[in-house]
Amino acid sequence: MNSRIGILALQGAFASHANCVTELGHSAREVRTPADLSGLDGLIMPGGESSTMSQLLESSGLFEPIRDAIADGLATFGTCAGMILLAHEIVDGRSDQCCFDSIEITVRRNAFGRQIDSFEADIDTVIGDFHGIFIRAPRIESVSEKVEVLGTYGGEPVLVRQGNVLASSFHPELTGDARLHEYFINSVVTTKET
Ligand code: GLN
Repeated sequence: MNSRIGILALQGAFASHANCVTELGHSAREVRTPADLSGLDGLIMPGGESSTMSQLLESSGLFEPIRDAIADGLATFGTCAGMILLAHEIVDGRSDQCCFDSIEITVRRNAFGRQIDSFEADIDTVIGDFHGIFIRAPRIESVSEKVEVLGTYGGEPVLVRQGNVLASSFHPELTGDARLHEYFINSVVTTKET
């Protein structure tokens, strides 16, 4: 079944996500205005700079409609900065930075592991080993009991889900491995059928 997946395209690595979606045989639509949200089956929020995206979400009028759509069950996948946007609480965010509070995690920006810059590592996930690219990645500092940990690196959560919201601290769209996108889109189909 073909799913229509929106890719938040205000800033950041949205083009690589769109490629993963189309490679899997689904439709990708760049989302820049509230009208772009209509008729979507799922939404991906890319990596980039979460404080800039937060500002652009406000100025484009997208913040409230996206928050409401997620609360209404829109399947959503946030990667890196996208995960920060979805979090309940941001540590070390800019003072005016907002988040959707769509998954009960606390994240610390630019704080993963001992390295604050980029590194690559194989991580254990629910779909098997996955090569993770971490770029000034957020660390998940706490998760509530409602959050499922679907992937870990060094014993720490790096891939998490709560209901219709999936989030990773790494960039699955930059590896040429679309398995996590496939996993996400399969969850979209499940949500649509139930
Ligand atoms: N450090 C960035 C932020 O705070 C996230 C980095 C990324 O998305 N690769 O938004």
